[in-house]
Amino acid sequence: MKTQKWLIAGLSVALAGCLGWAIAACAPAENENENPPTPPHTHSYTQWAYDDTQHWHVCPDDNAVDPAGKSDHSFVNGACTCGKTLYTKTNDTVTFGEYPQTQVTDKNDSDKSLRNALSMAAGANPTSAAPGKWTSYGYYRAGVVEDSMWYIDLTQNGARYRGVYFDRWRSYDTQHGDTIDGTSYEYADSNQDNNGYTTNTVYWFKYEPIKWRILTEKNGEAFLMSGLILDARQYFSDPLHVRTVGNDQFLPNDYKESDIRTWLNETFFDLAFDTAAQARIKTTAVDNSVTSMRYEVSDVACDNTNDKVFLLSYADIVNTDYGFNADPNVKDMRRQLKTSDYANVQGVFSSDKKGTQGNGWWWLRTPYDWQSYALDVYEDGRASRDEWYSYYDAVSATYNGVVPALWIRL
Ligand SMILES: [Zn+2]
Ligand SMILES: [Zn+2]
Repeated sequence: MKTQKWLIAGLSVALAGCLGWAIAACAPAENENENPPTPPHTHSYTQWAYDDTQHWHVCPDDNAVDPAGKSDHSFVNGACTCGKTLYTKTNDTVTFGEYPQTQVTDKNDSDKSLRNALSMAAGANPTSAAPGKWTSYGYYRAGVVEDSMWYIDLTQNGARYRGVYFDRWRSYDTQHGDTIDGTSYEYADSNQDNNGYTTNTVYWFKYEPIKWRILTEKNGEAFLMSGLILDARQYFSDPLHVRTVGNDQFLPNDYKESDIRTWLNETFFDLAFDTAAQARIKTTAVDNSVTSMRYEVSDVACDNTNDKVFLLSYADIVNTDYGFNADPNVKDMRRQLKTSDYANVQGVFSSDKKGTQGNGWWWLRTPYDWQSYALDVYEDGRASRDEWYSYYDAVSATYNGVVPALWIRL
C-alpha cells in the first residue's frame, strides 16, 4: 500500500515537470521518491506490560508506553487482568511464590543444552579464593563459617534457575568438622552423596511455584504450609552456648533467637516472594508458649513472636482442624513430606526405604526438653515426644528439612 501511494505521488510530480512548471521542484521530489519518509505511526496501546506491583499498556509495534501511565494491579482471586498472577487456589492447595525445586537433568537434548547454556553464563566454578559470579552460602563447619558451597541465580529463556556447586561435603552438623577422634566424618555423614550429589559438579534447579497445603481458611485468609520440604538447615548453629543479652538468657533451642527464624523471615521471604506477594503475607502472632508445646509447664518455652513466615509447632501437627492425626505416634500420611531436589543437594535426610522413599525429616519450631535440641517430624509421619521415644535433633543438625508456614490474604 505504501509503495503504491508513493508511486502515484512520483508520477504526478513527473507530469508537473513535463508541463514546464518549476523544474527545480522535480529534483527534491525524486529524492523523496528514493527515500520516502515513514508516514507517522499511530500507536495503539493494546498490549499489557507489568512488573511486580504495577501494570500499563504498550503499543505492540514498538513497545511505546501508553501516556495514560501505570496503575497498581487489581487482583481478583489472585489474578490481575494484565496477566500477572499472585496465587492460584484450588480446594486444598495454593500455588504462591517461587523457590528452586526440580533439578535440570540430562533426560533429553533440550535439558542438556539448557544446562550447558546456564553453565556457560555462570562462568568458572567458584573457589574460596575466586568465587567469580557465585555467592557463598556461608555454611558452618566446626562452628566457623566457611566458603565451600555456592549458588548463582540466572534467567534463561524467561525462566529462573539456581546453580549449586560445592567443593567439600556440607557438614551435617554446624559444630562438626572433618574428623572426630581421628575418624573422618566429612564424607560419610553428609546426606548429599546418599541423595546423588557429589563434589566439584555444577547442578541446576528450576525456580518453580511453591505448592502450599491449606491447613485452614477463614475470613478470606488461608493458613498454609509448604507441601514439600524445600530446604535443609540448622535450627541454631551453636548447640551448647547459652547467650546472655541484657538481662535475658537465651537457650540454644530458643525459637525467637534461632537462626532458622531469621532465615525464614529474611532469606526465604526475600527469595520466594516478590513485593506484591510479600504484601499478601500476614504478620502472624506466633504462639511459642507451653500450649504450643502441649505442655503444662516447661522451662524451655520462649516468648511469642510476630512473623511473616514460621515453622509449625508440636501442637499444630496434631491439630485435627488442620487435617492431622491427633496421635503423634500414628504414621500420619499428612505429616509425611517429600524432599525437593533442591533440599536434597543441600544434604537433607531423604529416606530410601520402601514405603517412605523420598520422605524427609522436618523441623518443628518447638524446643525439646533439653536446651540443645528441638523437635522434628520423622519420615513416616511420627512425631512422638514421650517417655519411650521422642523425635528430636541437636539444633545444629543441617540435615533436617525446612517446611515454611504462613498466613496469606486471599
Ligand atoms: Zn506504536
Ligand atoms: Zn495488573
